[in-house]
Amino acid sequence: MQCIHLPFLGYSPSITLQNARKRNRRAPLRQRPSTLVKSLLNTVEECIIPLTQQGVSSGSKLFGAAILSRKDLTPFTVATNNERVPPLLHGEITCIQQFFTVDFTNPATRPDPRKDCIFLATHEPCSLCLSGIAWSGFSELFYLFTYEDSRDLFSIPYDIEIIEQVFRVQGEEETDEQMKKKALYNRTNKFFTTKSLADVEIGRLKELYNGLNETYQMGKMIGTTSSSVWK
Ligand SMILES: [Zn+2]
Repeated sequence: MQCIHLPFLGYSPSITLQNARKRNRRAPLRQRPSTLVKSLLNTVEECIIPLTQQGVSSGSKLFGAAILSRKDLTPFTVATNNERVPPLLHGEITCIQQFFTVDFTNPATRPDPRKDCIFLATHEPCSLCLSGIAWSGFSELFYLFTYEDSRDLFSIPYDIEIIEQVFRVQGEEETDEQMKKKALYNRTNKFFTTKSLADVEIGRLKELYNGLNETYQMGKMIGTTSSSVWK
């Protein structure tokens, strides 16, 4: 796998308004879910972890991120947390900064975040990074570890705590119990959709079982022989 981006050559800077509207629509990922998960995990292992090893040894947190081509899932930009000095340079923010200010400084040849890219975070992004992803136009986000993993496996509870303390407003009629049951943020919203890689994998297996179920139900309808008492 190549961890350093290649210049994106398939992008035309001169487009009509109608084409611009079409361009703004995100095409569905062409890759099968199994290919997607495999490619994203490879990016974590081969591109992000080596950078993170350097980062953690100099005192930064272990969060990393990558921006990849929707077309072939090769990484455009890879980054890791760099908050030793500025506390806002989380892995995702560092990655966004590098994408716009180092790797693709020319807007005319920069891959369109909304249409040409997918965003990968090793850990479910905090409220700062979710906003950064929305502000910079990335429309599809995948992550490996959940907030609960960050809290329970890595002793970093602040993603959950900041959302709960800063953003979670209790409704007049809402009980504490009802409030606690609410999702911390909208995983599908106007700006982006976000999924854990585990959900992608589970969705893939569920689809396989849907196919198996169709075959099974069809077999029942046409009277396929079975020794089962209950059908
Ligand atoms: Zn963050």
